[in-house]
Amino acid sequence: MNNRLPIYEIERDIIARLQGDRRLILSAPTGSGKSTQVPQMLLKHGLLGDGQVVVLQPRRLAARLLAKRVASELGVKLGDEVGYQIRFENVTSAKTKIRFVTEGVLLRQMIDDPKLKGVSALIFDEFHERHLYGDITLAQALGLQEQYRPDLKLAVMSATLNAGELEKYLAPCVTLSSAGRTFPVEVEYLPHRLGLNAPPVWEIAAGEFSRFVNSGGEGDVLVFMPGGFEISQTIEAVRSTREAKGFIVLPLHGELQPKDQDAAVARYDRRKVVVATNVAETSITIDGVRLVIDCGLARIARYDSNRGINTLLIEKISQANADQRTGRAGRTAPGTCVRLWSRAEHDERVPHEMPEIRRLDLSEVVLTLKAAGVEDLRKFRWLEKPDEISLTHAEELLEDLGAIGHDQKITPVGRKLLAFPLHPRYARMLLAAQEYGCVHQACLVAALTQGRDLLLRNCGKEVDSAREDLLGEKAGSDFWILMRAWSYAFNHQFRIDACRKLGIHAVTAKQVGPLFDQFLRIARDEGLDTRPNEVKDEALQKCILIGFSDRVARRLDQGTLRSELVHGRRGVLARESRVQHSPLFVVAEIREVEGRDREVNTILSLATAIEADWLRELFPDDIKREVQVQFDAQQKRVLAAELLRFRDLALAAKRIDPPPAEAAARLLADEIIAGRLLLPNWDHHVEQWLARLDLLCQQCADLQLPAITDEDKKHIIAELCHGAVSFKDIKEREVKPVVMSWLSQSQRELLDKHAPERLTLPNGRTPKVNYEPGKVPFISLRIQELYDVNQTPKIALGRVPVTVHILTPGMKPIQVTQDLASFWREHYPKIKSELARKYPRHLWR
Ligand code: ADP
Ligand code: MG
Repeated sequence: MNNRLPIYEIERDIIARLQGDRRLILSAPTGSGKSTQVPQMLLKHGLLGDGQVVVLQPRRLAARLLAKRVASELGVKLGDEVGYQIRFENVTSAKTKIRFVTEGVLLRQMIDDPKLKGVSALIFDEFHERHLYGDITLAQALGLQEQYRPDLKLAVMSATLNAGELEKYLAPCVTLSSAGRTFPVEVEYLPHRLGLNAPPVWEIAAGEFSRFVNSGGEGDVLVFMPGGFEISQTIEAVRSTREAKGFIVLPLHGELQPKDQDAAVARYDRRKVVVATNVAETSITIDGVRLVIDCGLARIARYDSNRGINTLLIEKISQANADQRTGRAGRTAPGTCVRLWSRAEHDERVPHEMPEIRRLDLSEVVLTLKAAGVEDLRKFRWLEKPDEISLTHAEELLEDLGAIGHDQKITPVGRKLLAFPLHPRYARMLLAAQEYGCVHQACLVAALTQGRDLLLRNCGKEVDSAREDLLGEKAGSDFWILMRAWSYAFNHQFRIDACRKLGIHAVTAKQVGPLFDQFLRIARDEGLDTRPNEVKDEALQKCILIGFSDRVARRLDQGTLRSELVHGRRGVLARESRVQHSPLFVVAEIREVEGRDREVNTILSLATAIEADWLRELFPDDIKREVQVQFDAQQKRVLAAELLRFRDLALAAKRIDPPPAEAAARLLADEIIAGRLLLPNWDHHVEQWLARLDLLCQQCADLQLPAITDEDKKHIIAELCHGAVSFKDIKEREVKPVVMSWLSQSQRELLDKHAPERLTLPNGRTPKVNYEPGKVPFISLRIQELYDVNQTPKIALGRVPVTVHILTPGMKPIQVTQDLASFWREHYPKIKSELARKYPRHLWR
């Protein structure tokens, strides 16, 4: 053990906290001894009992190097007391007490053994990087500790931590920090932005190296580059400088053989230059570095919504990451950091990178959580809750891929997909390719969708015709064109001039090869047959369909490229697509571009032709036949069609004539009820009849007549429309008999008796009674017609006095009353002579 490392200043606190709270946040600068020493402290102080400590690392390279270092510090053989486990490589044994693992390995172990038997402590290292799997493994571990394993010790470590939120999340828990020992580092920027014609970044880096050596700079040099390709270019450029004499120049990145990785961190009697990816940012310490040259770029995983996948693209790192890199120059003495960008550009950079949960597609992680038995993702204890939209999107995609069922539970296919370290879309495609014997080709398709566009757009007529000649005009899939373009570029060693002729992006083309190899390797590791077989195009087209079934599209017409997609989306097939002959297709890319008049156009590209029969064959559960019935307002008739749907996308429609009777009647009834169609025979008589029934239902419940509610009215109207498909069919229909059939014969007799159409008055007159729902019925008569009627007539079992409108012989109103007796007695004598004068020819009694 290396007792002089700063972390030992807080050793007692670390141990005390882990024994007490069993939770701890540890923040100390890179190189303090967190990763190598804390696991050893746990072992030394007996905190592990019979179990082991598992140290989570975001990077495979770091897991292996740290295990190796700790094993050598303890003087044991790697794989005995100290070991590591990464995907496809397990260097541990029954004796192992300290085990370094990558995040996916631990989560998988938790799925297989939820109680983590034999694990006494978990250390989450490099937590500031906020990888998705780190986040959810920590959540699972907290749940485990609370429910079943109170003895489990949890430590979260990082070089830079904004611990506030995390401390709350882990409560009860404290943060211990150690200042570490660092020396000042002077930061230099380029005087101005690099233009388009600037030399490649590795040459600039080599130039900075020479300048440093020539100005008498001492110590070792660490150069940051984004990936393997740029690293080897840099090594070549540095080695070819005069100043490199006496230096050993070495690469450090995850794709290297273990012995080459070891070589980069080993000590030499010569000065060294290490050219590394961001593994050297905080995970791995290289001692003795006095100069850092930072290109300011890294491969960053991000969701590409166009392609519906997570991609690794080279991007600018944040200011915080740049500061971490700078710190690597001041570990053992004051140093210098040269940033290969300008001060102004630095100010434009984001202060911090977003955590992965905010920038990645969640399907893979959602699937993993489902496998771990997390049923409700919304109730999961997220350190930072993902957007609802991202969650729903992930679930929708997984359902489309058949990885989870309609019940949202993981399916056997879903479990198989988990084995692949890939986005579920590609895992699904490779799994299908195994069945069709075209894994080799499917890996190339997968590789071609990862990077930027291989074929440039709008390159002019000359390029277009060269492309047509060499790549073909029409194809079952745009991928065939890309594959031809890629092999053309490959055969021309990706030379810029050759590529330019066909408008091929040479750098992108060059990146396809390593990606292709990576997919092949993963497929092979999963036991798939990756030999390049001859297969029919159709096989590969089906695999692409299976991987992209959430993007099935149908052309809306033959004249345009407008198309409709599943999940209710629309778009336009890209003009350059060679798949314009097929009405059905799937697309691997959906781009939104702003059009001429500022409207957003959705462009569908990387299309592959498919057939409806394939959908039936591959997704029998997602094909639905559905009869669609609708009222056509213009023809005033009901039209019906049988639709064949793939999920929500209509594939084909067939007219059904006549439409199904019941549905047609219901639709016509809806139109009538909404008042858009008027039934000529639904007239005053019908309304009167209904009002009469209403009155008796209100006033004479004891008669037990059945009321007609609005709902009943709908039934009556629907019955009226029975057997009809158009307005023409119903407009002559008799309404009253249908309405009246609501009542039995004896009920109708009660209605006629107690809410009569006409009243018979003592003087023999039979005036018509006017009914209106909710109001008192009335009769209206000329005064002479009321002679000898001394009392107000009553209906409804004598409970409702009828209102009497008394009129002059000239039909002018005299009085409205419900008390006829008092009219004759009080009012009539006062007006009689006046009326008699006005209407002398009438009888006045
Ligand atoms: P931290 O995790 O806090 O960044 P480490 O535990 O990784 O720190 O490293 C502590 C120190 O141990 C480093 O500063 C370095 O001196 C030394 N060290 C770690 N790994 C190696 C290695 N593989 N080879 C040489 N020295 C190493
Ligand atoms: Mg560390």
